[in-house]
Amino acid sequence: MTAKIIDGKAIAKKLRAEYHSRVDVLRSRHNVTPALAVILVGDNPASQSYVRNKIAGCKEVGIRSELVELPASTTEEQVLDHIERLNNDVTVHGILVQLPLPAHIRVSSVLEKISVEKDVDGFHLYNMGGLVTGNTVFSPCTPYGVQKILEHENIRVEGQNVVVVGASNIVGKPTALMLMQQDATVVICHKKTRDLGHFTLLADILVVAAGVPNLIVPQIVKTGAVVIDVGFNRLPDGRIVGDVDFEGVKEKASYITPVPGGVGQMTVTMLLHNTILSAERAATATTSPFRRRA
Ligand code: NAP
Repeated sequence: MTAKIIDGKAIAKKLRAEYHSRVDVLRSRHNVTPALAVILVGDNPASQSYVRNKIAGCKEVGIRSELVELPASTTEEQVLDHIERLNNDVTVHGILVQLPLPAHIRVSSVLEKISVEKDVDGFHLYNMGGLVTGNTVFSPCTPYGVQKILEHENIRVEGQNVVVVGASNIVGKPTALMLMQQDATVVICHKKTRDLGHFTLLADILVVAAGVPNLIVPQIVKTGAVVIDVGFNRLPDGRIVGDVDFEGVKEKASYITPVPGGVGQMTVTMLLHNTILSAERAATATTSPFRRRA
């Protein structure tokens, strides 16, 4: 069996065109331009590159972006003050603080300061908790991207055995909860899982987000499985690879995402979606969207 290679780039392009139309409607009907504020603290080159990508994505679909660049010496209180200002700014619909933050700034206090209605990354404790009850205001972008890929390819989730490898708060755990919400039977594996293959061989849908190149080899993949590789790893020779042995596993899976060109394209796309959704809610709501399902 040779897998269908899922073209994340093409899916993202199609979605972004739809999002552009939604921005046009917001502009013409409501005189509203969706806006995303991005706070970047310090000069981490990887963070700078991620932020550039997000801002370029905004431009592509017509979202206004506002970059707040702060030196690494910025205090936690100063970051909180910026968030407070943006929370109160009705022309800003989404607020994102690029992680990681310098060690002297507590991530939890920063994330919880962001208004839930503008938490387009979905990292606020309310949105995290909402994943348990199926009641988020915004879904976190990478897991949402995984869900959209499955949806786009018409891959049934209900009743399927899903195995998620990786249990981080931003990818593994939310992905597992979101797919469980769609009535999959879900197993989460992590570093301390004994005999990873025992679990992965059960997976009809295998989502891998461990950050370990070549962790998933064909021997531990069920024939015909759908394999979604979230991993993004730079090898010493500069090549970018996922967590899955792509060449080997594509001969056994029914669908597979490449790296690059798979899930990565979807994360920023879902951020754009969440920002537009926030602007649509602000433009049309008579009451707070807080506690309303995304
Ligand atoms: P993370 O916070 O480092 O979490 C990695 C998770 O994988 C942890 O739960 C860890 O287990 C688990 N793990 C590590 N080694 C393992 C092993 N040998 N077997 C089973 N589980 C193992 O990373 P993350 O932020 O979730 O990101 C994961 C990967 O996805 C990275 O490569 C990252 O670059 C990529 N990523 C891509 C996108 C995108 O848009 N494409 C977005 C976000 C992340 P413990 O909890 O026990 O340590």
